[in-house]
Amino acid sequence: MRVLVIGSGGREHAICRALRPAEVHCAPGNAGIAEVARLHDVSPLDGSAVAALALDLAVDLVVIGPEAPLVAGVADAVRSVGVPCFGPSREPAAIEGSKSFAKSVMEAAGVPTARAFSCTTPEEALDALDTFGPPYVVKDDGLAAGKGVVVTTDRSAALAHAAACERVVIEEYLDGPEVSLFALCDGKTAVALQPAQDFKRAHDGDEGPNTGGMGAYTPLTWAPEGLVDEIMTTVVTPTVNELARRGMPYTGVLYAGLALTSKGPKVIEFNARFGDPETQVVLDRLETPLADLLLACATGELAAQPAVVSRPGAAVTVVIAAENYPGTPVKGDAIEGLAEEVEGAYVLHAGTARKDGRVVSNGGRVLNVVGTGETVAQARERAYDLVGRIEMRGSFHRSDIAAGR
Ligand code: AMP
Repeated sequence: MRVLVIGSGGREHAICRALRPAEVHCAPGNAGIAEVARLHDVSPLDGSAVAALALDLAVDLVVIGPEAPLVAGVADAVRSVGVPCFGPSREPAAIEGSKSFAKSVMEAAGVPTARAFSCTTPEEALDALDTFGPPYVVKDDGLAAGKGVVVTTDRSAALAHAAACERVVIEEYLDGPEVSLFALCDGKTAVALQPAQDFKRAHDGDEGPNTGGMGAYTPLTWAPEGLVDEIMTTVVTPTVNELARRGMPYTGVLYAGLALTSKGPKVIEFNARFGDPETQVVLDRLETPLADLLLACATGELAAQPAVVSRPGAAVTVVIAAENYPGTPVKGDAIEGLAEEVEGAYVLHAGTARKDGRVVSNGGRVLNVVGTGETVAQARERAYDLVGRIEMRGSFHRSDIAAGR
């Protein structure tokens, strides 16, 4: 099988790696992806260029990694030239791009989620904040790569964020541990991968600003039995059915970010793509060939696939971020120690490039170090052992990813 992956982050590196032994191409990719795929200098947002590349390479499948191309309709462009594509069309991808669309789908499908108001004026925002009280949850109603959300007990900070957004969703605070579940969908059928947990805040102890994610681990040994089945029944299946009913069948991964509240799992958000960095640990444990699964989704044949199997054991990933992330990151710093080896651990590249023969930083999240083992504790120890051997000026990482799990 020949596959073209669109994107350039740690998630795409993990996807490219897991797609093997298929022949893997990637556009645009990064310095690490170049070791497992052939890179092509095509913009992920240019639908006709991506479709032309897919035809040119005669690939069997295109896999779209990030949200921006999905919302821009790149999956539609690929399908329109007859190439199977894993990734939702522009319309259902709005489940991520528009918080108010997501809320309307959930309401119609009876999916448990936070009560919310969609506001367009400061007066409406103020009313909504005072209806729910602290902690305040204020979400930019546009695509913000997981960074447009402010959760705070500070009423004036909540108001200020609301004022900075054109349209804003203000919602009830959901209490309870968070879980990320990826469901692979072919438009009609959905199957779950193993759930994971990520760490959104920049600093130890869940302090600092929200980021795209600073680390993740799987499995969730503390999760109640039957959790995945419950989420599939109450959240994923009704959502997939509702989208199909609206004439916008969902093909790709439906990523449910959930809070396990005292009243059961409730949706915090949906994303239209694999989560980054949870994908790095979930795909590490996946035994079923990823290429078969994604092609079955793209061709509407998921129901005929054998059950998804994950390997026993655990995986932990720690993100090494550039100075100033999640603000404007410093780029172009040399990375040392990439040749270091630790048993059961390896490095995925997130924001890297090759310059004058050296690997340098080229984004906010630079590397994802993955550790594996029989237990989360062992996987974590191996990941941090390797993190300690990598050096980059100004970089930082959390030291508490998966601690005590
Ligand atoms: P989102 O981009 O919607 O995933 O939000 C980013 C992060 O903000 C989530 O992972 C949660 O940690 C937090 N968050 C968002 N919505 C809520 C909510 N209603 N209650 C509590 N925390 C939330």
